[in-house]
Amino acid sequence: MRGADRWRSAVDVDRFVVRKVRHRDGRLSHWIFTPSGQVHRPSLAVLTRYGTSTQETYAYSLVDHLNWLRVNNRSPSAITFDDLRRYMNGLTGRADGIYGLAWRRPDQKPLGASAAGNVATVVKAYYLSLRATSEIRPDLIEALTSGRGVWRYGRSKRTVESNPLAPRKGARRPRFLPDEVVEALFAPGALTTARDVMIVTWLHDGGLRVGGLCGLRFCDLHLVKHHPCGQRADPHVHVVGRDDNPNNARAKAYVPAPPSRDGYTVDGVIRAVSDDMISTFYAYLLDEFAPVQHLVDHEQILIHVGGATAGTALHTGGVRKMLGRACTRAGLDVRVLPHAFRHKSAAALYAESDFNAELVAQEFGWSGPTMVTEVYGKSANRHAMKFLQQAWDATARPPAEPYLAPGRMPGADG
Ligand SMILES: [Zn+2]
Repeated sequence: MRGADRWRSAVDVDRFVVRKVRHRDGRLSHWIFTPSGQVHRPSLAVLTRYGTSTQETYAYSLVDHLNWLRVNNRSPSAITFDDLRRYMNGLTGRADGIYGLAWRRPDQKPLGASAAGNVATVVKAYYLSLRATSEIRPDLIEALTSGRGVWRYGRSKRTVESNPLAPRKGARRPRFLPDEVVEALFAPGALTTARDVMIVTWLHDGGLRVGGLCGLRFCDLHLVKHHPCGQRADPHVHVVGRDDNPNNARAKAYVPAPPSRDGYTVDGVIRAVSDDMISTFYAYLLDEFAPVQHLVDHEQILIHVGGATAGTALHTGGVRKMLGRACTRAGLDVRVLPHAFRHKSAAALYAESDFNAELVAQEFGWSGPTMVTEVYGKSANRHAMKFLQQAWDATARPPAEPYLAPGRMPGADG
């Protein structure tokens, strides 16, 4: 045996290991065995909750922790939350200094965020399960269960208890959509129909979600000043959630019912529209919608304007494909998604409004300003730039210009 192999086998003798156990009915389990070769019963309480593949993942995650306890001669009853946090830091390679004895083999690389998240899940479950049979420090249980934040994922009702051991995920940072990309899309030949010019203009200026855009009906467009709906003095649209759109487009709205007053759409998210949004809409309406209007049997604004499906409502997937084709024609090697325009639009309004998160949240239909400060606060660099500039100006360093001008090096020309 050569180097690493010899080392590994010598150490593995004294370690907890995961072994496959084939049951009589054919099921396969991954259980943890003690260094003396017996099933490690405390971990079974956790592992048996999961199906084969999840159990395998969690078994390998938990066995690492058991080896850490063993190498450092620690008993679960003495473990504190700080111990577990240092253990997690050691796993992800973020340990500040040496803590305890190295328990991982030299060939084991630090874990990424996803794998470390699995470890955090099973380690937390393990200590909570130990409560039933052994003395676990109450302050550890308290700390592990303190993160009772309930997170909702999108529209689903799935709730997840947060895990204080889990590695922090990077803050959501929307990809920046540069002005040059937008300019390239509006260069001649990139967008081939008035409809597509309208779509990109509406995405860019309005920052509408693509589902909200495809879901717009003619009755939602109040493109005149002082529209009789009485809800906004300037030209605007109402983005309302409907479940009966023929193109399955659905606006994500916080007021779900499509209400009406005196026959006018009211409520929903009321969005102001730019002059260009209005003019591109009419160009599309007259040049492309009107000629195929006899084929339209629904109220949606955006339709297929030609081909065998002319007149049918445009699907959100159709907008994504159109953007892809336009990028290709514009010679862009980036893939622009509809949502990028929304990020750009919100970030722009945030900066222009002197970082008024409340105003941006209201305009874009978010329930509160937190979402704005969390996501767009980070991309709104101008705010930081203003203060950085002030800080630079305020420092006592002498002006750099004399050193930078060519041929004007101090002392160079007397
Ligand atoms: Zn209105």
